[in-house]
Amino acid sequence: MIMQIAIGWLAYSDGLLADGVHTLADLAADGMVLAVLRLSATAAHRSVNDQYDRYETIGSLLISFLLIATGMETLWSSLGHVASAATTSSVHASALVVAVFVIVAKEALFRYIMSVAKRTRSTLLVASAWHARSDAISALIAAVGILGCMAGLVISDRLAAAIIGIMIARMGFNLGWKAFKDSFDRPASETAGQ
Ligand SMILES: [Zn+2]
Repeated sequence: MIMQIAIGWLAYSDGLLADGVHTLADLAADGMVLAVLRLSATAAHRSVNDQYDRYETIGSLLISFLLIATGMETLWSSLGHVASAATTSSVHASALVVAVFVIVAKEALFRYIMSVAKRTRSTLLVASAWHARSDAISALIAAVGILGCMAGLVISDRLAAAIIGIMIARMGFNLGWKAFKDSFDRPASETAGQ
């Protein structure tokens, strides 16, 4: 993530920078899931799980708003750069090296998580694995954008950033929608259980 943002910035690649912001958002979301799982595990013998469900909902909604805002901002600034494409500051080759490394790393992560998911029969991990695969595709879009830019089509890097911005916003929308739905489903299932 640090490499993506730093090299994305230094090598003038909007696409790589946008993908780095995506990785940062993933890190925040995964960190929250891990924190909630740990809290729920330690509270398993107490009847305070409902409270942690609420923390999870609030945390998910916060990250969701953050992702939507980040995605829109990425989309907006890359479109702004497309409009002012006269300033032909070409992308440096180091951005391509990082993007390719990220594709390989995230594809490896997909395979590793999927193998653990099968071993532990965890649907949460299966979802997480498919997310890693979509992250690899996002990095692939960044790489194609950088390649196009190096071949002389400066706009392709900005277009890649715009697509990744839409992907970030969509991820935020899905997360927020799920948290929103869950918070309405829960009281219904509690009354059904009584
Ligand atoms: Zn992601």
